[in-house]
Amino acid sequence: MRAGAALLLAASAWLACVAAGSEGDLPVSEPERSSLYAPHREGGRFFNPWRRQDWSFVDLLRWQLSPNRFDKSRPPQVRVVANDGARLAGVEGSASVTWVGHATLAVHDEGDVFLTDPHFGERALIPKRLVPPGIPIESVPPHAFAIVSHNHYDHLDAWSVEKLPASMGWYVPLGLGDWFRARGRDDVTELDWWQSAQRGRFTITCLPSQHWSRRIEQGINESLWCAWLVDSGERKYFFAGDTGYFHGFAEFGRRFGPIDVAMLPIGAYEPRWFMGYQHMNPAESYQAFLDLRAEHMIGMHWGTFDLTDEPVDLAPKALAEAVAKAGGDASRTLVLGVGERWHVPE
Ligand code: ZN
Ligand code: ZN
Repeated sequence: MRAGAALLLAASAWLACVAAGSEGDLPVSEPERSSLYAPHREGGRFFNPWRRQDWSFVDLLRWQLSPNRFDKSRPPQVRVVANDGARLAGVEGSASVTWVGHATLAVHDEGDVFLTDPHFGERALIPKRLVPPGIPIESVPPHAFAIVSHNHYDHLDAWSVEKLPASMGWYVPLGLGDWFRARGRDDVTELDWWQSAQRGRFTITCLPSQHWSRRIEQGINESLWCAWLVDSGERKYFFAGDTGYFHGFAEFGRRFGPIDVAMLPIGAYEPRWFMGYQHMNPAESYQAFLDLRAEHMIGMHWGTFDLTDEPVDLAPKALAEAVAKAGGDASRTLVLGVGERWHVPE
């Protein structure tokens, strides 16, 4: 599996070796804030203006050659809730969120449906799916739309994109539009950080994240990575995609808070010296939830693909510990079962 992870993250060798900082509750300074709005493309490649990364194969090798301190011999425990997805075709009384697995969630807001990083496939390039998708791909209604955070294989799955209804609308960060059009998907809206698009009653806004991009047919950082804010007019949903902890969350909370539901990654975070730049650990995700001024958090990006050193079912336990240690309200920090449908409180 480590070889698989190595391939998936093949270009990550240039990542910085230090764990993400912890700004915590500190206010965002003006230079920090302006860094979120700064130019972020240079010579055809995107970058994070607030924290540049260093290219180094040494880091990747060091990770791959270092012993894993975690025991992964026990099969992971991931709760599964049977769900045929049939409800998605109907009208929800208010709103619900269903976890399909990994970073894929189906948000059902009244009569509308949108998916986050739809992945219903068998593999994330090499790592094999450990739990079947929580709903059948065929249950996604033709009027649904999707938001895509970046092109890594655990977030963008060609088979799923081609199998989902051709009528679906796609919202993608800069540099990914042609990839969709090459697959016959014409309803594609490419956005830069801080740009918004309107779809019916929804305002869909692309926001910065602290990550990177790469897949076989796209070079390192040739397409952008992002988070999304989807505002139905009644409810605000934040989807972080893949990201390290950074001061963007505090700025999003200031500009858009309160947010109803924050879908935040909690898994694929060890070892910290290598993963900290690009993936939050559960304690950082909890801090991001506070920074966002969100009512509820759903922890995702765990339990589905074995990508990093920690056992794939460790993240929910670590999140519960982090929330308890901070004296937080565990009823607001949710971890769903695969296929589980959670009603957004009115
Ligand atoms: Zn990624
Ligand atoms: Zn990921």
